[in-house]
Amino acid sequence: MSNQSERLFAEAQQHLVGGVNSAVRAFRSVGGTPVFMRRGSGAWIEDVDGKQYVDYVLSYGPLAIGHAHPKVVSAIAETAASGTSFGAPTELETELALRVKSLMPAIERIRMVNSGTEACMSAVRLARGYTGRDRILKFRGNYHGHVDALLVEAGSGVLTLGIPGSPGVPASVTETTLTAPFNDIEGVKALFAEYGDSIAAVLVEPVAGNMNCVPARPDFLAGLRALCDESGALLVFDEVMSGFRAALGGAQAHYGIHPDLTCLGKVIGGGLPVGALGGRAEVMEYLAPSGPVYQAGTLSGNPLAMASGLATLNELAKPDVHANAEAWTARLLAGMQERARAAGVPLLTHQVGTMFGVFFTDAERVERFEDVAECDAERFVRFFHGMLEAGVYLAPSAFEAGFVSTAHDDVALSHTLDAAERVFADL
Ligand SMILES: *Cc1c(COP(=O)(O)O)cnc(C)c1O
Repeated sequence: MSNQSERLFAEAQQHLVGGVNSAVRAFRSVGGTPVFMRRGSGAWIEDVDGKQYVDYVLSYGPLAIGHAHPKVVSAIAETAASGTSFGAPTELETELALRVKSLMPAIERIRMVNSGTEACMSAVRLARGYTGRDRILKFRGNYHGHVDALLVEAGSGVLTLGIPGSPGVPASVTETTLTAPFNDIEGVKALFAEYGDSIAAVLVEPVAGNMNCVPARPDFLAGLRALCDESGALLVFDEVMSGFRAALGGAQAHYGIHPDLTCLGKVIGGGLPVGALGGRAEVMEYLAPSGPVYQAGTLSGNPLAMASGLATLNELAKPDVHANAEAWTARLLAGMQERARAAGVPLLTHQVGTMFGVFFTDAERVERFEDVAECDAERFVRFFHGMLEAGVYLAPSAFEAGFVSTAHDDVALSHTLDAAERVFADL
């Protein structure tokens, strides 16, 4: 298919592990050669052979206002011209903090970091330091970055104690990690009944985006909030993906539930490496230098990254901008449903804000990791390759969410739906 990509990938594999710098990019679960990209503009990306694609990956979420938005490009260029890093405070850090706080009122204090992984890692340490407890609870199929204590593969059953999900993670590091099925409040109640007074934090993706796109049931999140309040554990929303997407104010605005701590990443950097941890002042002030829990970063709050994130959020927060992208996402999914129905392909879709999921299943509901795993994986692979061939770029895994930007327009919509119509006919 793409000669240049095949050549570049063969060369990359001699030097980079697996030819990539992040595992899912390697196309292992769909087969074939990863497509090398050379530029992006708005909703479109272009590969090294000059082929164009409507992009629904958007760098796995960050590009909420599309590729190379002029405001972002000029903010980065202007900032860079005055120096790229100081290791001293800059005004941009406070400006981005203020913007985030205006969108997420549960955040009273914030600490900028460099990735979502770092935000989640620091959230765990802070929650343990603040509560003086060691256990943390996470959900099967939720992903919180490659943090040792959070790389836990839940076995079947509710009372699964942490078994490391990767070689290199000592069992001693994960034995304080409890796991429960997503969207199953009874399972969580059972764990709290047994371990409640030793649980420091419950970490949850309020809209799960790493097992395709699966929103939490509202009663599930309300139940977690109540259990945390009763037991003194902190409720941590991992909004690295759902932040500024599930709603402008994130999943916490969508559901109307305030977490104690929020992990951010992806959109907050607008395509540059940024993560953040924010929350109640009383808890956040436990971090160094105000409090005893150590946390630091040479490039944290980096001016280029702050400028990129600020330009992105300022644009996204303009009246109707995010709402229009949400409405566009609904039109996309309605169009896909219609074409799948016409072709006799059973398709279920989820949408929360500008995140979406498509599932090849005739099930009526997909609520847990087990439901996602039961979908037709082989059909997804054919759909993925068909769409790629037709110029629509989706994530190369049935366990990734899809993303829409404010740059997706009518041209991108009809291109995508025409492609879907042809591909569904061959499924
Ligand atoms: C992407 C992601 C992370 C990890 O962020 P990185 O920037 O890749 O380290 C953590 N949590 C969730 C929910 C994510 O989607």
